Amino acid sequence: MKKKIAALCAILALIILLPAALFFKTATAVQPPKPSNGVLDLSNWSFEKDGVVSLAGTWSFYFNRFLTHEDFVQGHDLLSTPTPLQIPSTVKSMEGVKPFADNKFYGTLRLVIKLPEGKQTYGLRTDIILTSFKLYIDGNLQGEVGKVGTSGENSLPYYNILTTYFNPESNEVELIYHTADFTAQDCTMVAPKIGLAAQISREGQLGLGRDLFLFGMLLIMAIYHFGLYIMRTKDRAPLFFGVFCLLFALRMLLVGERFLPSHWQLSFFVYGRMAYLSVFIGFSALCGFLHYALAGLLARWFVRISIALGLLSAVFILWVPYSSADRLLMIYAVPAIVLLGYAMMRLVIGTWQGVPFARIVLLGFAVLGATFINDFIYQITLANTPSLIPLGVAVFTFTQAYTLSARFSGAFTRAEQLTVENKAILADLKYMNTKLESLVQERTADLENALKEMEVMSKTDYLTKLPNRRSAFTKIKELIEQKRDFYICLADIDHFKEINDQYGHVKGDEILVLLSGILSTAIGDCGFVGRWGGEEFLIVLETAQLDSIPDKFNEIRRAVEEYRYPDIGKEITMTFGLCQYRENSSLDILIAKSDEALYRGKMAGRNRCIIAV
Ligand code: GH3
Ligand code: MG
Ligand code: MG
Repeated sequence: MKKKIAALCAILALIILLPAALFFKTATAVQPPKPSNGVLDLSNWSFEKDGVVSLAGTWSFYFNRFLTHEDFVQGHDLLSTPTPLQIPSTVKSMEGVKPFADNKFYGTLRLVIKLPEGKQTYGLRTDIILTSFKLYIDGNLQGEVGKVGTSGENSLPYYNILTTYFNPESNEVELIYHTADFTAQDCTMVAPKIGLAAQISREGQLGLGRDLFLFGMLLIMAIYHFGLYIMRTKDRAPLFFGVFCLLFALRMLLVGERFLPSHWQLSFFVYGRMAYLSVFIGFSALCGFLHYALAGLLARWFVRISIALGLLSAVFILWVPYSSADRLLMIYAVPAIVLLGYAMMRLVIGTWQGVPFARIVLLGFAVLGATFINDFIYQITLANTPSLIPLGVAVFTFTQAYTLSARFSGAFTRAEQLTVENKAILADLKYMNTKLESLVQERTADLENALKEMEVMSKTDYLTKLPNRRSAFTKIKELIEQKRDFYICLADIDHFKEINDQYGHVKGDEILVLLSGILSTAIGDCGFVGRWGGEEFLIVLETAQLDSIPDKFNEIRRAVEEYRYPDIGKEITMTFGLCQYRENSSLDILIAKSDEALYRGKMAGRNRCIIAV
């Protein structure tokens, strides 16, 4: 809040203080004597100390007569009385003194200046004295701007600054301007300036330096901002700013030291209309820039009206007679000032609300607005105020260029932030992805393991880890398919119920596991053993591997019998029922035969091997 108030106060202070400071400077400076009734007494003026003198005051004017130095020497001027004419002059100031209503006229403008004692080289700088003039100093022609004539046909308008240097023969010097205007009809005469040659030359050089500096600066700004726009057409603010800079760059060469008109002799109308156009279109571009640079702060109608106003005025200035250009400018000024007022008001509100860049734009805008008004008054009244537009344009351009670059760098910073954020998000995503991948791999491995386990479980007996009945059947079928010769055998533990009863079921399980190991070891590579169910096993022995099947079975039987079981005081025996596989015999019959042989073994007293026939 305090910051906002301080910013607003600072801007307002600048608007008030800038013209006030200039006024103060003018008020406190030593005021030179003014021309009165065609005479100016500068005999006590020190050019070295107090500087150049503006010849604003009352000169003598002879309407529709060209009088020469000789005429005055010979007293011919006495034939007509001079009109005291206030310089600078405008249509308004001329109204009361002109002997006719028409603004097309010619005449002689004269001033006699009493200079200080001593020989000096002086300089005289003349800007506008109607639309064409010829300057004589003590009867010597110093130069001509345009072509002075007595009618529209024999005169040619032109605007250019005439700087001349002279060494007066006496302390009294006579300035005579033959001047004419059949074109602009604005009765404009700007006070010439007199000073020492060095001072006048310096003023011109400084002015030219200022104009060319601003021209260069504005041109670079224009090119730079057009470049920005071409690269990013989405944002129109640089385009409008570029147009504004370009037009004001052009304007810098038209006004001030009039660089273009003094180097390139185009028509008066071309330069005049270019100067008007630069204001009309330049102002529209400025409004467009404000609208787009401060998105949302200025209404859409603001930019529409300002562009319409600029284009309409541009068409009019090309269309209406040049003599009406001044009136057009006056009409244009009314809506332009309203638009300017609206923009200022919105900028103040924007600054108050903390709208980005509103403060800096307001600052530049305020300075430019003040200089515009100053220049406008200068254009209308031709008051002897210094033209501030160059200063205003410089301050404004810098503040607005700052605004645009700050907007751009803001956008870049944001983009960079987003890139960093994106990178972080990407890294997170990658990490999560790898985590997910390893998780999926883990889960897949778990599943695969579970599947393998299930497969093993589906084929294996849970207690003894031997192939179960299904698996044993599959293996037997494989042997049949491979046409191998083999015996199958059902082996049953003898009196296992008693062992269970005596030592407990857990011990019984232990014995089942031990027996599985004993059987497997005894069988070795000759075949395999599976659990048939309960305390019964299924043994397969391949014939090809053995010399004698009965011997092998007896070996197995003995291995069971001879094993000493921990905690069991007696031997455990098994009975084996064998049957040889014959081609094309069914597996069920083979099992049944083995079972029968086993039964017979049990009946015969157990702990033996019986081969089915
Ligand atoms: P036989 O010599 O006639 O085969 O006598 P047996 O007692 O071995 O025969 P029976 O069929 O009467 O009894 C089989 C016993 O085997 C009954 C049961 O308690 C035991 N049994 C079967 N399966 C298991 C098992 O998985 N664990 C244990 N601990 N005992 C089992
Ligand atoms: Mg049994
Ligand atoms: Mg048994």
